[in-house]
Amino acid sequence: MLLSQFQTIEQDLCARGLVSSHNGNLSIRLGESIIITRRGSMLSCLQEHDLIETGISKNNRATPLASVELAVHRAIYQETSALAIVHAHPPHAVALSLTETEIVPNGAEGLSVVGRVPVLGWHMEVRPGGLADIITQALKQCRIVMVHGHGSFAIGQLLEEAYNCTTTLEESCQVICLLRSLQVSPTEK
Ligand SMILES: [Zn+2]
Repeated sequence: MLLSQFQTIEQDLCARGLVSSHNGNLSIRLGESIIITRRGSMLSCLQEHDLIETGISKNNRATPLASVELAVHRAIYQETSALAIVHAHPPHAVALSLTETEIVPNGAEGLSVVGRVPVLGWHMEVRPGGLADIITQALKQCRIVMVHGHGSFAIGQLLEEAYNCTTTLEESCQVICLLRSLQVSPTEK
């Protein structure tokens, strides 16, 4: 049941090109535990042993096997009411994260789902598992954030909710990039 939820989202992330074969990670919170994808797992074909259970605050024997972004997932669960997290590398959103400090989706639908999306980590060293505090603080105000030149962190009560934020942001960013390639702004007629 749990595995199939993870598999559905991961396969779709891969099919849409929102992660590369071994990048991106998902987790859910179950009480004081976190179920997170394994470090280096191949996302398109997740198996039972690719789901690692460890503590929100405490380590156990499985902790070293968890995703390299475990520290960020833990900090988010410790400080927010999120029950699910999706971390992806949506290419158009990542492209805009290299030029913008905030991404504003065009269209009412995009705005209502993801709101204004801050781009974090400008002028900072961005490495896997880093910026946990900054990401967590921002996710107290919004459902999804971008890390400069890296990727997105989306939260929800369900994996599907966080995933919806991720695909909605990427769709919006793709349109923004297309408009820029046509050299028109969304407000021009
Ligand atoms: Zn990443």
